Amino acid sequence: MDVTRRDFLQTGLTAGAVLGFGQPTLALAALAPAVEVGNPLEVYPGRDWEKVYRDQYKYDSSFTWVCSPNCTHECRLRAFVRNGVFLRSEQNYDSHKVGDIMGNKATPSWNPRGCLNGYTFQRRVYGPYRLRYPMIRKGWKQWADDGFPELTPETKTKYKFDARGQDELLRATWDEAYTYAAKGMMAIAKRYSGDEGKKRLLAQGYPEEMLTHWEGAGTRTFKCRGGMGLLGVIGKYGMYRFANTLALLDTHVRGVGPDKARGGRNWSNYTWHGDQAPGHPFVHGLQASDVDFNELRFAKLHIGMGKNLVENKRPDNHYFIELMERGAKIVCIVPEYSPPATKADYWIPVRPNSDTALLLGVSRILMDEKWYDAPYVKRFTDMPLLVRTDTLKRLRPEDIFPGYTQPDMSRGASMTRQGLTPEYRKKVGDFVVWDAKTNAPRAITRDDVGDRMTEKGIDPVLDGRFTVKTVDGKQVEVMPLFEAYKIHLKDYDLDTVHEITHAPKELIRRLAKDIATIKPVAIHIGEGINHWFHATLVNRANYLPLMLTGNVGEMGSGSHTWAGNYKAALFQGSEETGPGFKGWVAEDPFHPNLDPAADGKDIQTHAHSYDEEVAYWAHGDKPLIVNTPKYGRKVFTGTTHMPTPTKVMWFTNVNLINNAKWVYELIKNVNPNVELIMSTDIEMTASCEYADIVLAANS
Ligand code: SF4
Repeated sequence: MDVTRRDFLQTGLTAGAVLGFGQPTLALAALAPAVEVGNPLEVYPGRDWEKVYRDQYKYDSSFTWVCSPNCTHECRLRAFVRNGVFLRSEQNYDSHKVGDIMGNKATPSWNPRGCLNGYTFQRRVYGPYRLRYPMIRKGWKQWADDGFPELTPETKTKYKFDARGQDELLRATWDEAYTYAAKGMMAIAKRYSGDEGKKRLLAQGYPEEMLTHWEGAGTRTFKCRGGMGLLGVIGKYGMYRFANTLALLDTHVRGVGPDKARGGRNWSNYTWHGDQAPGHPFVHGLQASDVDFNELRFAKLHIGMGKNLVENKRPDNHYFIELMERGAKIVCIVPEYSPPATKADYWIPVRPNSDTALLLGVSRILMDEKWYDAPYVKRFTDMPLLVRTDTLKRLRPEDIFPGYTQPDMSRGASMTRQGLTPEYRKKVGDFVVWDAKTNAPRAITRDDVGDRMTEKGIDPVLDGRFTVKTVDGKQVEVMPLFEAYKIHLKDYDLDTVHEITHAPKELIRRLAKDIATIKPVAIHIGEGINHWFHATLVNRANYLPLMLTGNVGEMGSGSHTWAGNYKAALFQGSEETGPGFKGWVAEDPFHPNLDPAADGKDIQTHAHSYDEEVAYWAHGDKPLIVNTPKYGRKVFTGTTHMPTPTKVMWFTNVNLINNAKWVYELIKNVNPNVELIMSTDIEMTASCEYADIVLAANS
């Protein structure tokens, strides 16, 4: 039976009435059958609904922004806005257009950039945990209103210093928050200054050594931390500027002049997180060797140690894919069969924290088999430098050449390009090698590397022991460092390395052979390795096989960690630019430059604050002092690193409670002694929950 649309509607209306639907439209909604359509590809009635889907990506405006969390990748993304709401983000795909003032541009290989965290950042901007206004802890506010009475076990309980996190956070205006914070800081600085302050601190049980850098100033009990400050120098490193500015408060409290005024203490960043490779400065003096991953794709042998380039470093792990596409060999050294291990040419399973032995074993094979690149080792490493076997110190030209004077290096690379000052040039001194051509010792300077050494006609030996006569007439045995390494590496034969690492012997040899025969070789280590006890050893051992085979200093070679650290150089001072970011964090608060058009070089700096490692707070707010059974009380923390008691903590962009190990101890026993904790953040973190004043930051 054919039913027309009109017939159907009439029937429907009748049925609706019979069934008692009061509203004809309801009847329609309940009973309307599907519209009969011949070929839906030719024509389809009522396609307005499709617009809803088409329009879901419609936007009114867009803008670019830089995602800047602690992943440190700083991806430039594009946000799309509709009805005033930031709806979504996507990669901007314009990294290749980014350049410096000299016109140097990044390569298109930087694209694509971004990850799902960045693309969903709007959820955090509008999310339920977003901080939108300041808050003050109820108990702390009462303590302030009561005139900041001295904290005793009773008052700590009364004002809930021992129950932060269970107390209420009260909404405050910005004026209130600032005023309460300022009053609190003034009261605390006063309480812990001078002789009275000293008596209190000692009575509270802090060891006297902790007053080393206190210097009579209550402001030195203030700890400020701008979490990962290089991700936002002005805002986050503003915390350190504040620590320095506290010198003004000190002059107010103690009545001292600018020369004696002390600021707060700057809590560290990278060392607390352990991002950096602590052994790198041992090798080359750099805080950490960090290349942009753009360089990774030039490696022909890539060795990942404790590194996960599949799941981590997300905007950069396409370079890992490019390594494969370009035919590089990939070796993965990790205890578990990890995602990058599944992509590797071979995986070397090792026991955790045994990597050092593996690298020393590989180095020994390279030396035993003479698989090293002797010309490179002679010209570019310190291995030919002679060491005295009586003192195990480097032989100095002054030791053996009467009346030796240091040659002028003022026109060499060290002083003209690397910033070596005359004072340091003197300290660094010169070195001695055993010259094969003359069969005699020859003095060399820091500049005599590579072609410079060849031009001088020096051919240093690597092996052997020699005898030199010192200026005071002694016969002293000396040997090149290379020879000393041969002795040191005797302990790392294949069987022993296998026993220590559990790595298969054939893979250890295979790795040595690959390092010897493939160029360039890069070793990339994960941050986890930098957290090992004795991490300096593995960091240093990384360089040995690379130095032996000429794999430092070429594109696609070298040993690198990843801390996003390369960006730090952007803010460093120079003769041309002035003090760099020190001009921001340590501008002299007594001589601020208020000229908005001031040249960077005109900023006067003066550090009134003093650095401190956060780890001492996490260590019960005390240094490492041990009552040893044999030697009695021993202070292991050095004078320069000595912390002060913590009475104020103010940190931004960091969730210290979440970062800390043994957090129960901190919440239960350490923080109740801290009289003001301030957390500045974009979200309600655990650290905000356990703070006295919470300040909402922009995202
Ligand atoms: S990798 Fe992701 S989280 Fe990190 S900066 Fe880029 S988009 Fe943001």
